[in-house]
Amino acid sequence: MMKNIGKISFKEIKRISPSQFYSMKNCAYKSLLAAAFENKPLLPISPNAYFGTVLHKMLELIANGVVQSENDFNRMFDEQVKAIEKSLQQQGYSFYVPLQKNVRDFGMKKILLKKHLRAVSEQPLKSGGVKYHSEKWFESKDKLIGGKIDLLIENRDETEVVDFKTGAITEDVLDDAGEVFSEVKEGYKEQLKLYAYLYFENMGKFPTHLSLVDLAKQKFTVEFSQSECSAIYEEAKRLLHSTNESIKKGIFAANPTEANCKYCLYRPACSFFLKHIGMDYSFNDVSGLVRNVVRYQNGNVSVFLQNGGKQITVTSFPSEKFDELNDTRNKQLSIYNLRKEATGFVYSATKTTMIYE
Ligand code: SF4
Repeated sequence: MMKNIGKISFKEIKRISPSQFYSMKNCAYKSLLAAAFENKPLLPISPNAYFGTVLHKMLELIANGVVQSENDFNRMFDEQVKAIEKSLQQQGYSFYVPLQKNVRDFGMKKILLKKHLRAVSEQPLKSGGVKYHSEKWFESKDKLIGGKIDLLIENRDETEVVDFKTGAITEDVLDDAGEVFSEVKEGYKEQLKLYAYLYFENMGKFPTHLSLVDLAKQKFTVEFSQSECSAIYEEAKRLLHSTNESIKKGIFAANPTEANCKYCLYRPACSFFLKHIGMDYSFNDVSGLVRNVVRYQNGNVSVFLQNGGKQITVTSFPSEKFDELNDTRNKQLSIYNLRKEATGFVYSATKTTMIYE
């Protein structure tokens, strides 16, 4: 079914979470659109991301002791997967169900997750004066920055802030000599430093360690100084203020780049992005005026769009889409999640393709 965006009513963002900060810093307009659409994405996320939420939830349940045995694990895992699949069906994304068939390394990730179970069951949650707190909420006194810390490990002298990640924690970067080396993603470092500041504001002292733990139980340490954490906290507050000011002034700015927009789920509502894809054809999304719609003998339907001087062809729509598409002649359409074909400006529809008028 064809979708429509309608008028966007922007809403003030009340609070930034540490996990959202880096994305907002890269494009604050994305956060404004997310708030305007009540965090309901306008496009399907990849099935791996939906599965990621299952994995993260399981890590939380293991960390807080709700899931202790292998039986608990299997039962809760199945429940979580079923809940996500039900919500996918309700959103009209049944093409991702069953998740097991659509997610990369489903079985391997489940096995890795179980290793966390063994580790926790081998070490009782409270032993030797060590306290474990999972999913603990911390917010700044002015309530402008807040979020849940996945796991806090405290003993008399030390406090470790742990954040679980179900995807890659590091990325390849180039050093000054042009050598490639692996480093913890900048966004994750800043997220943890914000948690450290929130911990300080609430507890009167900074944590001693900041760590990231992946699905394979590898731990990555994030070095930090107190002044760095304070500086990031101030930066986050300034960003929140300036973003909300843009609503009052009605003057918006965005940062359309491949890295920012590729996984942005609010692309259909972003006028900056739509303008950008009229010049940059590296995306799997197209926009233009519908010049022609053709149904071929094999039933496949193609749409021919014009964007500026460029003629764009989108093939492989199913036959039953013909009437709906044919009614859009001479209208502006934006089509997302396409496959790029070898021939220039030719794309084909996939099961996740979405069309916005
Ligand atoms: S599509 Fe790109 S420019 Fe537009 S809001 Fe999303 S990230 Fe920002």
